[in-house]
Amino acid sequence: MSLEELYRQVILDHYRNPRRSGSIEHPDATAEGNNPLCGDEVTIEVVLDEGVVTDAAVRGRGCSISQASASMMADRIVGMSVEEIATLTRQVKAMLDIEAGDPGLDSDRPGAVLGDLEALAGVKQFPVRIKCADLPWTTLEEALASDVV
Ligand code: ZN
Repeated sequence: MSLEELYRQVILDHYRNPRRSGSIEHPDATAEGNNPLCGDEVTIEVVLDEGVVTDAAVRGRGCSISQASASMMADRIVGMSVEEIATLTRQVKAMLDIEAGDPGLDSDRPGAVLGDLEALAGVKQFPVRIKCADLPWTTLEEALASDVV
């Protein structure tokens, strides 16, 4: 199986079986985002405990890239501190060429930091889809910035 095919399967798996899909009754932080270019919508809710995300939920609709990105993100961030999430978000955006920086790809380190998220790197071939992949991450940044606990 080619790497491209593997990435496509990872994205389709998250699209068809979204992780942490739904909502949280009393979230500490929430945000809604949309990508009018594609019609993608994402709502993110998180529970925070002393700066650590202890629960997360996402719901939305749109293309496979946006929804898979949201699913991968929600799956990843639970258990991470807000600071760790900020670092991860920068890495994802660097991977997508939205921001300068080192995404930590092609590292020799075992268990590359991005893991499954590297599947999103394929969208760089389709610039119009970059916003789709980025939408959940930008929305998450807004959610965490809105937290006024
Ligand atoms: Zn999209």
